[in-house]
Amino acid sequence: MSELTVKEESNEKKSLNFIEASIENDLKEGKNGGRVHTRFPPEPNGYLHIGHAKAICIDFGMAEQYGGKCNLRFDDTNPAKEDVEYVDSIMEDIHWLGFDWEDRLYYTSDYFQQLYDFAKDLIRKRLAYVDFQTAEEISKQKGTPTQAGEVSPYYEKYSVEENLDLFERMNKGEFEEGTCVLRARIDMTSPNMHMRDPIIYRIIKHPHHRTGDKWNVYPMYDFAHGQSDYFEGITHSICTLEFEVHRPLYDWFIDQLKDSDYRPRQIEFNRLNLTYTVMSKRKLLQLVQEGLVNGWDDPRMPTICGLRRRGYTPASVRSFINKIGYTKFDGIIDVSLLEHSIREDLNKTATRVSAVIDPVKLVITNYPEGQTEMMSMPNNPEDENSGSHDMPFTKELYIEREDFMENPPKKFFRMTPGQEVRLKGAYIVKCTGCGKDENGNVTEIYCEYDPMTKSGMPESNRKVKGTLHWVSADHAVDAEVRLYDRLFIAEDLNEEKDKDFRDLMNPDSLKVLKNCKVEPFLADAKPMDRFQFTRLGYFCVDKDAKDGALIFNRTVSLKDSWSKEKAKN
Ligand code: ATP
Ligand code: MG
Repeated sequence: MSELTVKEESNEKKSLNFIEASIENDLKEGKNGGRVHTRFPPEPNGYLHIGHAKAICIDFGMAEQYGGKCNLRFDDTNPAKEDVEYVDSIMEDIHWLGFDWEDRLYYTSDYFQQLYDFAKDLIRKRLAYVDFQTAEEISKQKGTPTQAGEVSPYYEKYSVEENLDLFERMNKGEFEEGTCVLRARIDMTSPNMHMRDPIIYRIIKHPHHRTGDKWNVYPMYDFAHGQSDYFEGITHSICTLEFEVHRPLYDWFIDQLKDSDYRPRQIEFNRLNLTYTVMSKRKLLQLVQEGLVNGWDDPRMPTICGLRRRGYTPASVRSFINKIGYTKFDGIIDVSLLEHSIREDLNKTATRVSAVIDPVKLVITNYPEGQTEMMSMPNNPEDENSGSHDMPFTKELYIEREDFMENPPKKFFRMTPGQEVRLKGAYIVKCTGCGKDENGNVTEIYCEYDPMTKSGMPESNRKVKGTLHWVSADHAVDAEVRLYDRLFIAEDLNEEKDKDFRDLMNPDSLKVLKNCKVEPFLADAKPMDRFQFTRLGYFCVDKDAKDGALIFNRTVSLKDSWSKEKAKN
């Protein structure tokens, strides 16, 4: 473990973040009878991304830490955009991250009747009215943050009875989408734009994935969210900073609704933004729908399922979230910090294997024809209990094409005529030359081995600068390897608002190598198995690997540029 990590972890133990401090304060004051009850409220209109993981970790994490409960609630208030596919994927991803809502699975649609009844109560109290203006007209009257809005001509047009009748007819389907809305009657002069008679119901004539055709009116998120928290007895409603300005509105609704002292406390934190990627569900959906990536779980996507397919572990995602922490300021996190977390995790757990991704043949001319020696390879030098596995060594091997140069520059310590190198875990060999085709391309490399230098023998300590990985040509297994780079070329996509984000995609984000050779130990590898390919990085078996064919995704390379950069500072 690096010094940096140790320091970070011990810091975290010492001080509470502001969310913990606020919860502890409530507990100290005896609020809510000592209960801590949180919720994670995704809208099922897309797959979860790493930003949601940050919300999940704090919502479920706080409940865990304070002996409380965390609900999963699908905020399914817009049937036109939502789907059960998303519901299922969200549940799978939360479980994968290591959290559980037990028997507390809820849907905002469970409260549609209660919310509808509450809206009618507001009408009865003359705190809501039906407005037949167009969306444009309504937005024109909203004013600006420094200029009061105008009162709607519908503000007092209808009596309570007429408003109730209109709202019911809206729900029966008598009006078309967009002809009218229900608005709360609050204050068109409020300095908070959200308090200027917000729309609380709109007509949507699209079947809902749970309630079918029952409703033609659907509550706006702002009208549903705070009340749903209230109905569920949520004590701490943790959300992202953009909802801070909505809080007075949520409180206003609860004031009209509540019959006790209890009210959920909303606490806002900074949302996660990562370099070289997008985090908006709308944009991620666009990438999927337009075929710019290979689905939601494309290993280049910042989605949880994408990270999973890429080879990330739940522990590495949680440790990343833990490192970045929770603040009150929006910013952007370097994606290399995420890569650092998975490296740190896999370094401890991944079995070391040998794979050659751009193979060229190496012939050991003085090695006996037909002989096979089994070389014992440690599974993980970081873990003394990890054992070892055997790897066959033969006269003909494969090594990486880039590990050979006929006329190398200075300080090339790999394979070149006249120079000795070590074949990892086997012998020291001396290169004697190479064979070429008619175009001058190297087809074979020749070397001689020194039998006295077998790994473990005294002579093997001889000083040689380069160590190369290899696989036996007779025993190697064919594999496809997929190398990934950043999906976008721009570091901070929020700063490129004038450009179409699709024009900022990295054309070289995926490189497929079809002709790779891996050691036979990998023949039985199963989808999601993770390995360190010596000198190349961490890889995991892709789910496309079927019928004995092997496909590996590179999770991350071995080089840790992030911690080196940090160490310099
Ligand atoms: P939408 O634009 O569709 O509302 P959303 O990303 O906010 O997108 P939700 O399903 O509403 O999607 O998100 C569920 C929860 O996850 C919310 O509480 C939200 O605050 C939180 N969340 C969403 N994105 C991030 C992020 N980048 N970082 C931290 N939390 C996030
Ligand atoms: Mg949202």
